[in-house]
Amino acid sequence: YKQHSVPDYRPFLKSTPAYPMHDIQYPPQLATLNTMFIDGGPVAAQSGAQIDVRDPATNQVIGSLPRASASDVNHAVQCAGQAMNGAWRNLDPTARAHILHEIARRIRKQATLFTQIETIDVGKPLSQAERDVGRAADYFDYYAGMVDKLQGETIPLGRNKFSFTVLDPVGVTAHIVPWNYPISTVCRDLAPSLACGNTAVVKPAEDTSLSTLLLARITLEAGLPAGVMNVVTGLGEEAGDALARHPGVGHVAFTGSVNTGRHVMRAAADSLAGITLELGGKSPVTVLRDADLDLAVNGIVRGIFFNAGQICTAGSRLVVDESIHSELLEKVIARATTLTIDHGLKDPEMGPLVSQTQRQRVAGFVDRARAAGMEILTGGQPAEVPGLEDGAFYQPTVVDQVPRDAEIAQEEVFGPVLTVHTVSDPDEAVAAANDTRFGLVAGIYTRDIGLAMQFARDIRAGQVFINGYLQAGDTVPFGGFKESGSGRTKGLEALRNYCEVKAITTVF
Ligand code: NAD
Repeated sequence: YKQHSVPDYRPFLKSTPAYPMHDIQYPPQLATLNTMFIDGGPVAAQSGAQIDVRDPATNQVIGSLPRASASDVNHAVQCAGQAMNGAWRNLDPTARAHILHEIARRIRKQATLFTQIETIDVGKPLSQAERDVGRAADYFDYYAGMVDKLQGETIPLGRNKFSFTVLDPVGVTAHIVPWNYPISTVCRDLAPSLACGNTAVVKPAEDTSLSTLLLARITLEAGLPAGVMNVVTGLGEEAGDALARHPGVGHVAFTGSVNTGRHVMRAAADSLAGITLELGGKSPVTVLRDADLDLAVNGIVRGIFFNAGQICTAGSRLVVDESIHSELLEKVIARATTLTIDHGLKDPEMGPLVSQTQRQRVAGFVDRARAAGMEILTGGQPAEVPGLEDGAFYQPTVVDQVPRDAEIAQEEVFGPVLTVHTVSDPDEAVAAANDTRFGLVAGIYTRDIGLAMQFARDIRAGQVFINGYLQAGDTVPFGGFKESGSGRTKGLEALRNYCEVKAITTVF
């Protein structure tokens, strides 16, 4: 992502050396992102109800958004349904691809604004938000490249007949999105859907809807016809539920927690819509005794403290050979204790968690582990940032002596909290790594290629990283085994979710 180098954000920060929170300045466009986006225009909730938008670093209310009800969602799905009969699916593939490339270009053109808005809304450091915006644009370019390659097959049936397949769009696709990577997750699923000729309704997370609303405007400016991309804002149990169960939806792409995923699957059952579920994780980073420890430390620290640990693929369980336990932990702690923590707009290494609620949840897991006798090697407390006393900051935390069946080892904490599990040989390492009901990703560090490949064979996870945790990028199929979900996103695999295969047989 070198091409998205960090621009100078200082114009948006007052250049006083002290750092009281009122020094933070928000981009003026923030105030305009206060409506839904349906059928190509701004729309309020029919009830007039609103939800607050907060900056998690200050806990201040910085705006409000419509709280959509089922009737608002119904309106959005109907508009998307009408747009299915319009120009979009009938455009020449090259023209459709041009519009998707144009969306990518305009996201990059507005990258500074997207980055600031994502940082303010989610709390994440600027350079991490900037990376997400770059990824969002890249998804549109990648899937634009596929629009004119959605080819079927021919099937020989003898001398006087044959079959061929075409890939039809599935119809209106619903996208229900969590709060940790708003812009990149929306684009991950929206770009392949649009590439296949579908229309879409997006329900971003209630805490982080702003970048999706900005994206919707940009798609229209880029030439996407009105009604092809719609955004409803509001609460999961209201707007999200109504969208998942709407009979006009052909495919539901859900990203979020396991329990909500179960609910969404049940809600979509009546209409028999297709569904992809990208759910949680409790991913292991495994370090064998012959590993390059400095390489491993990079993977471990990035894996658990990036985005303050609020990543479905967080490497939240460290499985380490007993012979290197002390040396490795010393290096991890040295890094954890020097991470900078601040408002995301100051571009620290760690920002706040997304909300006070999330911070309380994380603190609860750690406090219960401490009370149960597990050893907190570092962190284990809310972090204090001068001038931001109401921010949802939490210290980078490492918990040792964690039984494999402990709550903190089994439940997704979704914060900067690493649990440590010591093993005595590679077989025990695989068993420990697999000892979870999740199966999203897994990492191993070893110089022994045979052991690495055996680990990759035996681990139950959708992506495996050997000597480079989370290094796959966005063109590699992604999705979970076990309770981490079903179906795949990213790469060419994602296109399968958004096409119906139609077989046509002709007799002559
Ligand atoms: P969540 O399940 O609470 O919410 C996700 C989305 O679902 C939100 O838009 C929410 O409004 C909506 N929702 C909530 N209740 C709903 C309902 N009853 N019906 C329909 N929609 C509903 O998840 P979260 O707390 O926002 O995000 C964190 C979770 O997301 C973690 O478990 C994380 O691992 C997971 N996640 C997975 C991936 C992946 O690709 N596998 C990526 C990011 C996050």
